[in-house]
Amino acid sequence: MLSQNLTNVEKNIQEACARAGRDRSEVTLIAVSKTKPLSDLKEIYDCGTRHFGENKVQELCEKQPEMPDDVQWHMIGHLQRNKVKYIVDKVALIHSVDSFRLAEEINIQAMKRKITVPILIEVNIAGEDSKFGVRPEDTKELVRQASELPNISVKGLMTIAPYVVDPEQNRDFFRKMRQLSVDIKNENIDNVTMDCLSMGMTGDYTVAIEEGATFVRVGTGIFGERNYRKE
Ligand SMILES: *Cc1c(COP(=O)(O)O)cnc(C)c1O
Repeated sequence: MLSQNLTNVEKNIQEACARAGRDRSEVTLIAVSKTKPLSDLKEIYDCGTRHFGENKVQELCEKQPEMPDDVQWHMIGHLQRNKVKYIVDKVALIHSVDSFRLAEEINIQAMKRKITVPILIEVNIAGEDSKFGVRPEDTKELVRQASELPNISVKGLMTIAPYVVDPEQNRDFFRKMRQLSVDIKNENIDNVTMDCLSMGMTGDYTVAIEEGATFVRVGTGIFGERNYRKE
């Protein structure tokens, strides 16, 4: 059941890569497993998935020790500074850094553990009031500031595009994200690579891939609808 969903998503990714003339290896699929039981994660793991995304610190911390060691965990949700210490050494990438104060806290916790933590800067590309993320025009400055922190390394940008019925409605936002990342890359800031672009979810990942996404974050398309009701 889940394996069939995964097969469909994989086929869509391959087709989008082909349309864009991109190699499949340029795009990493993150299975967004928030609210889903471990049995679902294990099922997808057994099909070969190694990248999992969670948006809550507590849930990530509960699932991480129960899954095999070669899973790469992605923190994709809003992150409070007082919770950084719980995940800083458990995640492969933090996608949701949207302030210098948060970057500083990640740096402090990383320093304590003598590690370097890869991060993305979250951009509110559509300027939605309901979304976290820095404004596009403030992104370069935050990248610059974060680049000065020795124990984090800025790998690129992330966005959560608006919820739309027709993914074509987000193409322009994805294009703007890609342009923003190219502009920042061209500044050649020390300690900044800008090779990662995390964008595209179940409703729009194929368009995001056509516009340059290197990480797509797919939840519903793999695991089915989420049920947030607490029994
Ligand atoms: C939940 C979530 C996703 C996955 O959303 P789907 O529409 O279920 O694919 C992707 N990114 C973030 C940041 C999320 O919180």
